[in-house]
Amino acid sequence: MLPCPSCRTPLGLELDFIIKNPACQCPKCGVIMKFNVDPKIFKNAIAKVREAQQNIEKLKKQYSNIMTTK
Ligand SMILES: [Zn+2]
Repeated sequence: MLPCPSCRTPLGLELDFIIKNPACQCPKCGVIMKFNVDPKIFKNAIAKVREAQQNIEKLKKQYSNIMTTK
């Protein structure tokens, strides 16, 4: 997760979002951030994030019977 370089607010930006929007604005302090990242590095990072998300989904399904939900 990327923090805002200006106010340190965790932005919670998805990597997909950054690739599609190489510049974005901090919702808290309004600073504009530009992401100049090597697409190859991003590709690897996205693969890891996807993998982690899939693992989380698996765990959710696994525990959905045990956990009480609304
Ligand atoms: Zn900020």
